Amino acid sequence: MIATGSIRAASETGDALLLTPGPLTTSRSIKEAMLHDWGSRDAAFVQINREVMERLPGIVNAGATHVTVPMQGSGTFAVEAMLTTFVPSDGEVLILINGAYGQRARKILEIARRRTVIHETPEDTPPDLVAVERVLASTPSITHVFAVHCETTSGILNPVQEIGALAAKHGKGYLIDSMSAFGALPLDANAIHADAIAASSNKCIEGVPGLGFVICRKDVLEAAKGNASTLVLDLHDQWTVFQKTGQYRFTPPIHVIVAFHQALTEFFAEGGQPGRGGRYTENCRVLVEGMRALGFRTLLQDQLQAPIIVTFHMPGDPRFDFQRFYDALKERGYVIYPGKLTVADSFRIGCIGRLDRTHMQGALAAIRDVIAGFGMTSAAMAA
Ligand SMILES: *Cc1c(COP(=O)(O)O)cnc(C)c1O
Repeated sequence: MIATGSIRAASETGDALLLTPGPLTTSRSIKEAMLHDWGSRDAAFVQINREVMERLPGIVNAGATHVTVPMQGSGTFAVEAMLTTFVPSDGEVLILINGAYGQRARKILEIARRRTVIHETPEDTPPDLVAVERVLASTPSITHVFAVHCETTSGILNPVQEIGALAAKHGKGYLIDSMSAFGALPLDANAIHADAIAASSNKCIEGVPGLGFVICRKDVLEAAKGNASTLVLDLHDQWTVFQKTGQYRFTPPIHVIVAFHQALTEFFAEGGQPGRGGRYTENCRVLVEGMRALGFRTLLQDQLQAPIIVTFHMPGDPRFDFQRFYDALKERGYVIYPGKLTVADSFRIGCIGRLDRTHMQGALAAIRDVIAGFGMTSAAMAA
């Protein structure tokens, strides 16, 4: 059902549409996959899990070189597992930061007592590759480079290919948080020289939350034995036990994994990354054009914008009240996302999940309606 005016929009199961960066709106069939119980040693479950793990590397063209190591928990668990498994205690990581997820990697490494070098740019600015190269050339103690693919804080697309070329040129390992981009944006693990790529069940593959995973270059994973500084987040140990038994070391989120299996089936039926990314790109185009027509301004220039989530400047008009805007949209069946920027007062609208252009058009109609209720015909302030 699509909302116009005051009719409430809803997902296939009657819930409000999540225009958020994940968890996000999922299909009915993905939720229905969870209507059973399995023992963790159940042969059917073990087979489903194996298929999930085997299908993932192909999405980033890494089927011949990389393996998937799943990690129970949200996406951050996978990022922390990746950083603390691949970076040894005497390693040193160049962290490229332009948002909250880069900051989070810094915090993870500080707690784990790994040395870091920070290259930070504002949230609307990609890393300065000339400066990055200078740091790499002048700091031989750096062992790894860490980058965020789409920094969900703003929605900016970071140049992971160019960063990977620099890491490879200087002989550094390369670790990527591709959480909000995996499956939607093209990524070739070998072309960009990625040692490991972290992502999760509940973003662009459109599963439910509870499983992270790291796509690891096999030889690099083999060499990472003994690096981990925790038991549960040790990807080498998790993988070794899988090799031997096909099973998790600790209770797996079984329902999440079965739903993720269904989500992957639907992902490939949609044409894999080109199909999924194409739908999100169209969602993003409709959203940005429609919001600009209503007078809203995007934070990012179009060439920096990933088709995942869009940050809009808060309108300057004193009649615009964000809490009332948020609540009125929720009332109409659209959940948006507050901003988390330091550079500007803003809010965000996501393009991902089981949504298509008609949902985005419905959201735009609702937004037009809500600001009209504030007495505004446009979000642009008269000069
Ligand atoms: C969502 C996300 C994460 C993981 O967040 P969780 O809340 O732990 O799932 C990590 N990095 C990026 C870029 C993300 O978008």
